[in-house]
Amino acid sequence: MKYIGAHVSSSGGVYNAPLNAMEIGAKAFALFTKNQKQWVAKPLDSQTIDLWFKNLELSKILPKHILPHDSYLINLGSPDNEAREKSLNAFIDEMERCEILGLDRLNFHPGSHLRKISEEACLDLIAESINKALDSTKVVKAVIENTAGQGSNLGYKFEHLAYLIDKVEDKSRIGVCIDTCHMFSAGYDIRTSEAYDKTWNEFDNIVGFKYLMGMHLNDAKPALGSKVDRHDSLGKGNIGLDSFRFLMNDERMDDIPLILETIEPEIWKEEIELLYSLEGK
Ligand SMILES: [Zn+2]
Ligand SMILES: [Zn+2]
Repeated sequence: MKYIGAHVSSSGGVYNAPLNAMEIGAKAFALFTKNQKQWVAKPLDSQTIDLWFKNLELSKILPKHILPHDSYLINLGSPDNEAREKSLNAFIDEMERCEILGLDRLNFHPGSHLRKISEEACLDLIAESINKALDSTKVVKAVIENTAGQGSNLGYKFEHLAYLIDKVEDKSRIGVCIDTCHMFSAGYDIRTSEAYDKTWNEFDNIVGFKYLMGMHLNDAKPALGSKVDRHDSLGKGNIGLDSFRFLMNDERMDDIPLILETIEPEIWKEEIELLYSLEGK
């Protein structure tokens, strides 16, 4: 079974996210557990936590179908020691917030070398940061998102994800999230059934489906391989609806959060219905 939702707003408090998910008929959702543009957030108070669990129960959405996203400021592979330390502390804080909210996974972008160190040196720093973060927390899994490869962002090749997984000591707490826009923009085609099979076979051989803990379902404004990160609404970009039809009929994407980060929140409800209508077709 597919669990589809969107990256809903948690403005006013994290407890609003499950209600926002319910409103669009979502069976999954993503959220920021703090303001994604600020380094520090005040700790979650008991009233907020109580309301979160109450609303989560109302929504009937399970923690494993919720994919929190970390702050955009964090760079676990920063070549600057001070910036990396600051990022690691913020990342650990976010993991702890997830644990308080009963969530089992945290989605993050691997990091950027800022053209100051090699890709490999940066990946090593990211892996070291992940290991430290896992050591400082108990249960939450670190879920690496693939990127479009814009600027100096790493994670645009399946090999990058595999390299990081290989260097992480606790394999039970590491996973990946594949963003279809990023994948396409990074050069992985999924538009025909042949291309779809080829790309996912490559993913399975290099990374492995057992590590797939979530997906972001976005169409892409840029062309294949352009390395530009610009999402579009489903069927309106260069990926097209066929790819999402293949995905909706692929049981390897069952039981994980499938999250829309498309650009028109006002049509998320219709996009979710559209995706479910593609099942069996
Ligand atoms: Zn992301
Ligand atoms: Zn994404």
